[in-house]
Parts: sequence; C-alpha cells; structure tokens
Amino acid sequence: MSVTVRFAPSPTGHIHIGNVRPALFNYLFAKKQGGNFVLRYDDTDVQRSKEEYAVGIAEDLKWLGINPDRVEKQSERFALYDAAATKLKDAGLLYACYETPEELERRRNRARALGRPPVYDRAGLKLTDEQIAEYEAEGRKPHWRFKLPNHVEGDPFSFNRTEVHWDDVIRGRQTVDLASLSDPVLVRADGTYLYTLPSIVDDADMGITHVIRGEDHIANTGVQIAIFQALGAQVPEFGHHNLLTTASGEGLSKRSGALSIRSLREEGYEPMAVCSLAVLTGTSHAVEPAKSMEALAEMLDFSGISKSAAKFDPEDVGHLTAKLVHDMSFADVADRLKAEDVEGDEAFWSAVKENCSTVSDAKQWWELVVGSVTPEIAEEDKEFIAQAKDLLPQEPWSEETWGEWTKAVKGETGRKGKGLFMPLRKAITGLAHGPDLKNMLPLIGREKTLDRLS
Ligand code: GLU
Repeated sequence: MSVTVRFAPSPTGHIHIGNVRPALFNYLFAKKQGGNFVLRYDDTDVQRSKEEYAVGIAEDLKWLGINPDRVEKQSERFALYDAAATKLKDAGLLYACYETPEELERRRNRARALGRPPVYDRAGLKLTDEQIAEYEAEGRKPHWRFKLPNHVEGDPFSFNRTEVHWDDVIRGRQTVDLASLSDPVLVRADGTYLYTLPSIVDDADMGITHVIRGEDHIANTGVQIAIFQALGAQVPEFGHHNLLTTASGEGLSKRSGALSIRSLREEGYEPMAVCSLAVLTGTSHAVEPAKSMEALAEMLDFSGISKSAAKFDPEDVGHLTAKLVHDMSFADVADRLKAEDVEGDEAFWSAVKENCSTVSDAKQWWELVVGSVTPEIAEEDKEFIAQAKDLLPQEPWSEETWGEWTKAVKGETGRKGKGLFMPLRKAITGLAHGPDLKNMLPLIGREKTLDRLS
C-alpha cells in the first residue's frame, strides 16, 4: 500500500516553527516513499476556527515548500462523524453522561484523596430511565463517552489491566494500559465533536497509513487504536516525535509570535533555514542548512530522533539563513533582487553576498552603488582624502583599480593599513564596514567616487 500521511492543524492561530516539525516529518516521509501528503484542517471547533488562519496556514506551508496533494476541512465532513457516532452508540460503546464539569472535578478529587487513580467510574452507565428523565427535565444535555475495552467481559465496572501495543516508527515498541485511562468524551453536551472521533474517522476514510505527530499524543494513541478497532477500521502505523522547546525547555505555544512562520518570513529568513532547524534539531544529524526538500529528506532518519526534548536556539534561523545566502548563485536570487528594485548584476551579487545575512540585505548595498551616500570624512583626514582624490585613476575600472589606486595613495601620503583604507572606505561608502571595495569600486564608478571624495 502506498504511503499516505496527514498534517492536521487547528486553524485557531498562526503556525510556528514547532508546528512545522510534524508537518515536515510527514511531508518528507511521504516524499521519500513516493506517497501522498494530506493537509487536513482540524476545524470541528467552529467557534475558535477562523478562515483567515486556514488561509494563513496554506500560505505559510507554500512558502516553506510544502505542497499538499489533497486539502480537506473537517467542518465539511460532519455527516461521516455522525455516522460513526451512531455506529458506536448502536454497539453500546458510546454512552450518555450527565455530570457537570464541577461534579467531575469533585469526583476526581475524591478519588485522589482515597489514593485511587482519577479514572471516570462509568456512573453514566448506571443511570436509570428516571434519573435520565430528571436530568433532561432540568435542561441538562448529555455528553458522550467511548467505553474503553478495559474491563472484565460483560462487567464494565470491573476494570482489568488491558495493554495496547504498537511499534512506533520513531520510538519503538510502546504500551498503554487502557485501564489507567478514563473513557474519553467524544461528543460534547452541545453536540460538537472533540478532536478524537473526527480524526480517527478521517484517518480511516482517507487511507492514512502513518500518523506522525508529537509525543504529547502518546496516551491518545492507545485510546485511538481501541476506537479504530471498535469501528472495524484499519489501524495506521504511529510515530511520535519529541517536541521543539526553547533552550530553557519552554514549549512553543501558538502565541509565540516571533517564531510564527509569518514573522520569520517577514524578517527575511530563508524557508529552507526554517525547515532545516525545525527538522534537524533534536536528531542525531548536525543542524545544518539543507538547500532543498530533497536534501532535507535525505538527512531525516526517524531512528535518529532523540527521546528527549528538541531544544533549539531561535538565533540559529539567522545563522542558517546567512549560510544559505552566502552559497546562493546570482540565478538563485535574480528574481528576488528585481522584486526589491535591486538592479545589480552577477558582479554585484558576488561582491555583496558575503555581507548579506538575508537576501534583502542586498538592498542596502545597492543603495551604496546607485544612491546618495553621506561621506564620512574626519577633520584630520581632509588633506589625505584630497590627495587621494587627485590620484583617482581614469576609467575604465576593473577589480585591479582599487589596488592600483591605494598603492599610489600609499606612495604619496606614506599612510598604510587601516590608516590608509578606513578613511577611504568611510568617504566612499559612509560606513566603517561593508563589501570589499576592490569589487565595489567598479560598480560605483569614477563620477560618484569623485563626488564622495569632496
Ligand atoms: N490538531 C491536532 C494537533 O495539532 C492533530 C493531532 C494529530 O495529528 O492527530 O495536536
């Protein structure tokens, strides 16, 4: 069977680098296997889900280079979830409960005080018709729980250790004891679905072969396997990866604005820098910039994913971006330079790229070539600059011009090293640092240089 995976974000905010990790693990895995990648919006919570976030997620994924083979919205698939809920109800596996959140909290506290695990006691299954009628008359609506297969046959109140196993494609053999868990609520009192049932129904319906997601879902997986089986559906393979955290071990919430893909894009970071950091952190592979998705897919090895947190330094997005930029050819950037009104050619790009942390940085160096510069000439250098101006060679200029000129200036003035070069740089560019003047001078040209030396 060919591989089909999915990324299932909730469109309740912008995605950040931590969300990109499961997106890429799935995408790269599918790419390597020649499989399909489904983008499935987990938008059953219609109150919190927003179209603008769904659109934003699609744009962010596109920018990163993740192109889904299929896009689905769970909010358009309620009929399927209703059918599955009915099937479970008919089988006696989805039952009504009437407790309020406060009542449940009290019960959990009591269980804890008695030293028992705070597992739901299935009181809903014991309700008589009269009690149910009373609750309904009070205006209470039921929520619905799935009866986990964790009990003595025929007696749901006698819990039995029931192990569910799976061979996790990242973490190896995993075991969850279903008797340690409460029956999960699948349908809320207002009739809306929690994430669990729609996710399972869709994984089955879309032929998802591998569910790769964060390790915060490990306990869910035990429950979900039981529900897949109750529905008579094929259970997919599962893989749970470590989560990205900041260096201090803090998790990334939806609100970690600076690390949203949107803001990283606006800052001018390279998509492959973001992808490389999101994927390679917390693995046995060195965190280095992959130039393409194909190259990154080659670097990803599920067996090399660490079991501890994937700590990363947000500053590394900048370092990886700079490395990628320094390695780019003019053909790689030509369109992007044009889009920023940078008309420089190949010679310009090779002159400045080492001084660019992002492609957009080229703009400031282009200004230096064509724009007006405020020369910086210290009082004590005025005489020296005037002498240098008189020695400025005639055009045509080449990469040799800077060397010939400064040699002549050195001979005339006796200055050398920093005392010779720095005042010239400051006069011509207005800055104390920047690209090699040997390459910049021919681009700036004699007329502008003369101007700036006045
Ligand atoms: N929307 C869920 C999440 O982001 C999806 C989990 C899953 O992949 O099953 O946590």
